[in-house]
Amino acid sequence: MSATDAGFDPIVDRPSSGLLSEEPGAKISEVGQSYYDYSLSIRKELPPITWKNLLWNLDWLNVFILSGVPAMTVLGCLVAPLKWQTFVFSVFYYYVTGLGITAGYHRLWSHRSYNASALLEWFLAFAGAGAVEGSAHWWARGHRAHHRYTDTKLDPYNAKEGFLYAHLGWMLLKPRRKIGTADISDLRKNSIVQFQHKYYLVFLPLAAFIFPTVVPWVFWNDPIGGFFYAGFARLMFVHHSTFCINSLAHMFGTQPYDYIKTPRNHLFTAMVTIGEGYHNYHHQYPTDYRVGTAWHHYDPTKWFIWTAKQLGLASHLKQFPENEVNKGKLMMELRKLREFQSQIEWPKTSEDLPVVSWDAYVQQAKERPLILIGGFIHDVSTFFDYHPGGVGYLKKYIGKDATTAFFGGIYEHSNGAHNLCAMRRVGVLHGGVPHAMEEKVVPPGQLLQVAEHDELKKPVV
Ligand SMILES: [Zn+2]
Ligand SMILES: [Zn+2]
Repeated sequence: MSATDAGFDPIVDRPSSGLLSEEPGAKISEVGQSYYDYSLSIRKELPPITWKNLLWNLDWLNVFILSGVPAMTVLGCLVAPLKWQTFVFSVFYYYVTGLGITAGYHRLWSHRSYNASALLEWFLAFAGAGAVEGSAHWWARGHRAHHRYTDTKLDPYNAKEGFLYAHLGWMLLKPRRKIGTADISDLRKNSIVQFQHKYYLVFLPLAAFIFPTVVPWVFWNDPIGGFFYAGFARLMFVHHSTFCINSLAHMFGTQPYDYIKTPRNHLFTAMVTIGEGYHNYHHQYPTDYRVGTAWHHYDPTKWFIWTAKQLGLASHLKQFPENEVNKGKLMMELRKLREFQSQIEWPKTSEDLPVVSWDAYVQQAKERPLILIGGFIHDVSTFFDYHPGGVGYLKKYIGKDATTAFFGGIYEHSNGAHNLCAMRRVGVLHGGVPHAMEEKVVPPGQLLQVAEHDELKKPVV
């Protein structure tokens, strides 16, 4: 994707010609093992966690943080009265530190979905540290592995392990094997990311607890409320809000762009994750600075990045080409239509029916009511009472060719009538169907069909 504000256009930027192949016989299968199998094979798997070995397999630092934060929140509710100024500031600071993760750790550093000025990067580095989720360097490395190895054993928060594992378990338990590799060479060269990584233990207390204590202290004399509410309670909400991106967003909602892996779109997930809930889109088009693309999608992170651009603090906001997004949308719609189509019973084709000569047709029509329409022979024996045009016309054409009469000679039958008529096929006239391949003769219900790629050349009639 080119880094211009105009964006990458797959049609304008399309290469003019292909390369000449020097080895026309080479096959992909000869290249070797897949990156996944290879990565898996070089990573030793630790024995599974059981109740017996659980204590030795807990990540005690994370257990301490993730249980200590809610405990301190409860303590705060018991000992510190909540001033309204502190409440408003806590909500505001929830968004500040949440955006540090969503706009900073996620969309800027993990996915390079826009360029940020140094001022914005410093702000996001500070705000992100206040969310107590590790350094941006560490977070983005894990997140890139999550995208590269989604739903596999090399995905650090593999949703296939269940809701609790994806939400919390992956942090509380020591991983069974090293997560998959991801290229973070760009982050190694980013001095702000590296500075935050090196001095993370300075950033963390400053952003998570000292700053949210000092502001209420200085402006409305509420250091205790600031410490507990803007510090701990706010942090608990930021934690579980961002954890929902790994759990909720991989379990609940729709899949409008792709069906292969677990990511899903849901408004509720977007509401609790500052806009990250359109996760099916995000996993398909991760370099897009938007996660909710429509104007009505709840995506405050997108609005924040857009506003930063208006203020001159961000540039090169990337958008995935709509032409390519539409291919995903169309594929998913066609899959639904294909499922609907598969539930419908269709007429027999010329391949399923006996081929009958004209003389044999005329002869057999004396025994049973057969009518030829469009090269197919139809048995109308149970249809006399249901023919809206009456019995007379049907009887008149028994043993004859009623094609012209059916298609306007006597009455221009409706599409519905044509579809129904085709269900009464019992034979095909010798030499009749090639002539009948004209568009009018194919039942209208089959003129447009959803077909698998290898079915496209099969006959409809
Ligand atoms: Zn995900
Ligand atoms: Zn992502």
